Amino acid sequence: MKDSNLTKKLQKIDKDTFQEDLINWFHNQKRILPWREDQDPYKVWVSEIMLQQTKVDTVIPYFNHFIEKFPSVEALANADEQEVLKAWEGLGYYSRARNLQQAVREVSTTYNGIIPNDPKRLSELKGVGPYTTGAILSIAYDIPQPAVDGNVMRVLSRILMIDDDIAKARTRRIFEEAVRDLISDKDPSGFNQGLMELGALVCTPKSPSCLLCPVQTHCQAFHNGVEQAYPVKSKAKKQKKLSYYTCVLQDEKGRFFIEQRPNEGLLANMWQFPMVLKQDVDEEHLATWVEQKYHLTIHKQETLPKIKHVFSHVIWELDVRFFRVENAKGSINDQLFLSLDALTTYPFPVPFQKLMDYLKKHSR
Ligand code: SF4
Repeated sequence: MKDSNLTKKLQKIDKDTFQEDLINWFHNQKRILPWREDQDPYKVWVSEIMLQQTKVDTVIPYFNHFIEKFPSVEALANADEQEVLKAWEGLGYYSRARNLQQAVREVSTTYNGIIPNDPKRLSELKGVGPYTTGAILSIAYDIPQPAVDGNVMRVLSRILMIDDDIAKARTRRIFEEAVRDLISDKDPSGFNQGLMELGALVCTPKSPSCLLCPVQTHCQAFHNGVEQAYPVKSKAKKQKKLSYYTCVLQDEKGRFFIEQRPNEGLLANMWQFPMVLKQDVDEEHLATWVEQKYHLTIHKQETLPKIKHVFSHVIWELDVRFFRVENAKGSINDQLFLSLDALTTYPFPVPFQKLMDYLKKHSR
């Protein structure tokens, strides 16, 4: 049932002209983006997953490369997961890539390679939440479904003066209700993309360009001079800091040792240089930890520059130590000593790419 407060706010909007103003503006002003070239549901899906938490400019080259490498549901379903992670390398939030591939495999086997066009089946696929469901249905299939992300919540919170805290998960439902009421049946794709584009180009977080806004006459916050007070958003929790020792182990042939991360959790199945939380091993016992864990004999410890990387919920601070390895050949991990060139074919999280860049510049 619709909130009576929301109903009153929606009643103030002249829906027909609001839709017209928004949709016309979108079709005239929209940015030319590679995933907008056609309505291929696979491309819409890939782009929407990439665009979660990532800016459009960053996504464009990744999207082009990804579609070139995996041009269809079948191509992605049949690809090796490591290749998919490699194509995603640097974009972050790697579970998005793994979930996308798992979901695409299900589309391939269960739905004969055709992406479903109904909300229930679509939202049952791995990694496909309410936003992605709505985006695929409206953009690729012209079905009037809400696609509410942070941008859309910001825009609508201002237009309708919605006071609910957008940091709370349950608030999204209120905005979905609003979109269901306002969306155009004739052009749901233009309507949803119009809201997203308005949030990206005009109704921006800090300084909305109200004087240029195509829906200014409908905007309740603008008329009351309070657009800066919206959206209402409580502060996110501070990111947790994790301090690690990271060990660069190099054998007599100049090769470096790497290992694969566990298949669950942050950065699952990606590759890394050995690392250990500083709270678990102190500097004095680091060499012994390496020797015991990896069955290697090492010597000559040097300190390399520190690396800091900010993820969404954690910050990594890596204190990097360099060791020479004696006689790696014959050790159980011999096969994981690789030249720097060979390392670049493996998917690594960004902090280790920074480390590899340093090693390339200061070849040892
Ligand atoms: S008038 Fe201003 S606050 Fe309202 S939707 Fe437009 S840009 Fe956003």
